[in-house]
Amino acid sequence: MRKYVIMGVQGSGKGTQSALLAQDFDLTQISVGDIFRWHVQNHTKIGAQVRRVMAAGELVGDDLVESVVRQRLDQHDWNYGFIIDGFPRNRRQAEFFLESYDIDGVVHLDLPDEEVRRRVLARRLCSRCGLDYNLIAHRPEVADRCDVCGGELVSREDDTEEALAARLRDYHGKTNPVLDIFRRKEFVFTVDARPERTAVQQAIREQLGLPPHQP
Ligand SMILES: [Zn+2]
Repeated sequence: MRKYVIMGVQGSGKGTQSALLAQDFDLTQISVGDIFRWHVQNHTKIGAQVRRVMAAGELVGDDLVESVVRQRLDQHDWNYGFIIDGFPRNRRQAEFFLESYDIDGVVHLDLPDEEVRRRVLARRLCSRCGLDYNLIAHRPEVADRCDVCGGELVSREDDTEEALAARLRDYHGKTNPVLDIFRRKEFVFTVDARPERTAVQQAIREQLGLPPHQP
């Protein structure tokens, strides 16, 4: 059984890299963000809580994150292991996590703030059908127009320079103490997240001692 944590700032490719690992090694992919989105879409009690917090412009509290993760792991449907993203978010959770689960490694996707800025500020969204674009990786055929429906492409409301700077500060402030705890246990494998996705995946596997990905 393999149990991994993946950490990285938004835009570092956490979801993509987790999915590739999960697929090849039958790991259960656990994303805290996805779990919350599911609750919101399905109008659960937790979903209502999350909606209230987000409407107030705040981040979901650490306690709620922790209880959701515990519930998810208590399902014990991860016969071959798991890869989790979005947890732990603070020292206490990191310590609890280390005591409760035998973690095999923490993948730390390292992306300089400058590159995060470049990637995130290049994101566009179709204002009509909601399709995602990226002016670096997935350009529309006609500038500012959706390939599918012809709708206008716009930036996400929270993808401004100021909002991103605040998110980066928040991310580093929260993540560094957690990384320090894992580093002390020598669990952290730092991987440069700048190359294209297959190269990053191979680097992760090399570090974790896993067989290479066969595209
Ligand atoms: Zn569209």
